[in-house]
Amino acid sequence: MTAHRLRLTLFGSTGSIGCQTLAVLDHLRSNGWDIELVALTAGHDSERLRQQVQRYQPESLGVADPDDAAALQQTFPDLPVEAGPQGLENLAAREDVDLVVNATVGAAGLPVTWTALRAGRRIALANKESLAIAGETLRELLARHGGSIVSIDSEHHALHQCLEGRRLEDVSRLLITASGGPFLHLTAEDLEAITPEQALAHPTWSMGKRITIDSSTLVNKAFEVIGAHTIYQIPYPRIDVLLHPQSLVHSMVEFIDGSTLAEVGPRDMRIAIQNALIYPERLASGIEPLRWENGIELAFEPLRRGQYPAYDTVLAAAGVGEGALAAVNAADEVLIDRFLAGEIRFPTIAKGLQLTLDRWQEEGQEPGVPATLDALLAADGWARRFAGSLPPSDRRS
Ligand code: NAD
Ligand code: MG
Repeated sequence: MTAHRLRLTLFGSTGSIGCQTLAVLDHLRSNGWDIELVALTAGHDSERLRQQVQRYQPESLGVADPDDAAALQQTFPDLPVEAGPQGLENLAAREDVDLVVNATVGAAGLPVTWTALRAGRRIALANKESLAIAGETLRELLARHGGSIVSIDSEHHALHQCLEGRRLEDVSRLLITASGGPFLHLTAEDLEAITPEQALAHPTWSMGKRITIDSSTLVNKAFEVIGAHTIYQIPYPRIDVLLHPQSLVHSMVEFIDGSTLAEVGPRDMRIAIQNALIYPERLASGIEPLRWENGIELAFEPLRRGQYPAYDTVLAAAGVGEGALAAVNAADEVLIDRFLAGEIRFPTIAKGLQLTLDRWQEEGQEPGVPATLDALLAADGWARRFAGSLPPSDRRS
């Protein structure tokens, strides 16, 4: 890559982060960056995907669903269209790209990250599930194949800015902030009656459905804590979560001398995306900075054990291994779908995660580290069946 030229693939282009990545790409191009779009991918065919193809003219396309691929091929006969998980892996392994942007949601993003790292690629990673499930194994792949990862997550982006050029041995704690989601301070009884609409109404960020529900159970925060542990190898007892309802301090680093650095900024993912795309460059983003002179209130409180049971379960899975994390992640995907479909109540998501972890440990199938992708996908498949078979909970009318 020369300073202002970039060939990139964008996985998950039709999602919240995918669309914002294309907006950043427009901005970079209008600032003189020569960006070639090697591939766009999505789970399904959609009007949005078709519009993106017409507007951005990628060199190739990938969709998870093979029938959708055939329909897209008919509309765009000159465009190579890859299909299914293998098709997406083919795109992730391409040698002729500088940067793989992985904005796929869920475990479906793991093979993309894995394949790109095996090909020694640089990755701008929004798919936090990759880091959360397979952190130690991905570190092995990084060491062996010479790739690199820059996380797009706002918390990791904040830590990165606070830590760049510092010595990790001077760090006493990482402080990862969490909005607490829409249900901060609700009682157990209130939580029983939560509707999907209420859970999808995040107080401070507009995001895809899965991460929005994960932000209300704090599964999302658990993934970020595991991701931060993976990136910096700071032990878990020195990574704390602070509930911070304004979501303006995106995370902080406390040093042994008693000083704390925080990254504070607007709630706009395009800053983290742009920095991940052009790292180590920095460029005016056109996004309004915070206006401190107008008065800004920042509040913090500790996350208490037991306050968000799903958070505790995911961190317990991290203590078991990558198979347990793959299982808990897959169960979470299934339980969220079942909650959104009205089959189970909100607290059953957290209960189902704990049941999944308990059963996984009873079965004793935990793979060693480094794990194989097949072992993690097997854990994923097992947990999808298990979580899908948990009995529905009666909804109150
Ligand atoms: P989203 O649901 O809006 O978009 C997900 C994208 O993945 C879509 O393009 C979808 O078509 C694609 N996809 C879904 N299933 C697929 C499959 N089986 N195979 C291939 N592609 C598939 O999600 P999002 O909010 O953009 O989040 C994407 C990722 O970024 C998640 O891992 C999330 O945790 C992370 N993230 C999101 C935000 C945010 O603000 N939205 C912030 C930080 C991190
Ligand atoms: Mg985040």
